[in-house]
Amino acid sequence: MREIIIIGSGPAGFTAAIYAARAGLKPLLLASSVEAGGELMNTTEVENFPGFPEGIQGPELMMKLQEQAEKFGTEVILDDVTSVHLEGDVKTVETGYSGTFEARSVIFATGSAYRKLGLHDEERLSGRGVSWCATCDGFFFKTKTIAVVGGGDSAMEEATFLTRFAEKVYVVHRKDSLRASKIMQERAFGNDKIEFVWNSEVVGISGENAVEALNLRDTVTGELSELPVQGLFVAIGNDPRVHLVHGQLDLTADGTIAVQGRSSKTNLSGVFAAGDVIDPHYRQAVTAAASGTVAALDAEEFLAALDQAEAELHADDLVPAK
Ligand SMILES: Cc1cc2nc3c(=O)[nH]c(=O)nc-3n(C[C@H](O)[C@H](O)[C@H](O)COP(=O)(O)OP(=O)(O)OC[C@H]3O[C@@H](n4cnc5c(N)ncnc54)[C@H](O)[C@@H]3O)c2cc1C
Repeated sequence: MREIIIIGSGPAGFTAAIYAARAGLKPLLLASSVEAGGELMNTTEVENFPGFPEGIQGPELMMKLQEQAEKFGTEVILDDVTSVHLEGDVKTVETGYSGTFEARSVIFATGSAYRKLGLHDEERLSGRGVSWCATCDGFFFKTKTIAVVGGGDSAMEEATFLTRFAEKVYVVHRKDSLRASKIMQERAFGNDKIEFVWNSEVVGISGENAVEALNLRDTVTGELSELPVQGLFVAIGNDPRVHLVHGQLDLTADGTIAVQGRSSKTNLSGVFAAGDVIDPHYRQAVTAAASGTVAALDAEEFLAALDQAEAELHADDLVPAK
């Protein structure tokens, strides 16, 4: 039986692995078969991860994290976890191709997925003008004209934030009113750089190697039009990847795995969670990495306490009966 299994190979999973491996716990990290490396594999330049003043390409950063985790003894398997059984002292993790593994502790670092528009152009131009994260990429759009798609709080927050950099920000929304809270709406309506494009949905994105325009369809009349922009931020929501733990771990109202306070402890003993899967708000590579550290330290403490309890039990057994 393993000491610790980590599910997920983003910044949270690999950082948890680095700490657990350095603590001598020989972690097994199940990295996913097709999405190994996590969300940063979908981006180009990362300029806000500390320690890289010149910036670093997302995939290169993830390769370095994997290399660092393996250097200290992490075993990485490129396979998907298909089901987990988390109650009791022995946790069971089933995978698609590599069989079933058992461990005394498990860390969930399965991240979350930005909702997408579902357009081919969106994938094609990801990192080339299409983004899902204003905090990550807003800086690249200084003095540009860009669009934000969405009508909720996060769309208003992203649009307002992006006016710090962009010359103009269009908010494209399918309806003629917003879902966002009143205060967020008022903030956006009062911003001179923001213009709303109502009753419009994005049906295509033009540009060979970079975003040049959005192809819009009027949701009332069906009329097609083009909106020249150099960037598109998709802000239509985010889904934490929690399908494996439904019915086993408590979730928050935001759909993230619930943890106790600033720890990574879930409602089940020996089960920890880290990164975007517990974070409805910050969702950055460095916050995910930090959260992975917390999970590894919590797991280490948990395992040490188990060892101690087992040693005490064993010592009691050795006391000769009177
Ligand atoms: C396009 C884009 C650009 C970004 N740019 C930046 C940036 O510049 N700076 C920044 O700080 N942040 C950036 N972010 C955000 C950052 O990528 C995330 O905050 C961070 O990756 C979260 O790390 P994580 O480890 O929690 O999850 P993730 O990176 O999402 O990793 C989760 C991992 O879990 C795996 N997984 C899920 N389910 C299973 C399963 N059943 N079995 C096995 N594995 C599974 C996934 O395959 C993945 O490997 C960006 C995000 C996107 C989408």
